[in-house]
Amino acid sequence: MNWDTIIFNDITVGQIAPWAAGALALYVTLKIYTIFFTKKKVNLQHTVYFVCSSCQWEGHISKFGTLCPKCAAPVRDEDRA
Ligand SMILES: [Zn+2]
Repeated sequence: MNWDTIIFNDITVGQIAPWAAGALALYVTLKIYTIFFTKKKVNLQHTVYFVCSSCQWEGHISKFGTLCPKCAAPVRDEDRA
């Protein structure tokens, strides 16, 4: 396969390559943004140690969690360690 390889009708690889490169660059850029965004999101999800006052479940929950993972009782601020 070379730059003059015809893909369909009279479109050659050389004509498609810049578009393919552009699409790839766009894809990579979006991928990087996605990774960056995901990382940022994870940073916001720091966990806190929590002891449920209803069922005594202990463990780490999201800092922004509002329900006990076991019994779904509302998380009170005084239950967070
Ligand atoms: Zn509970």
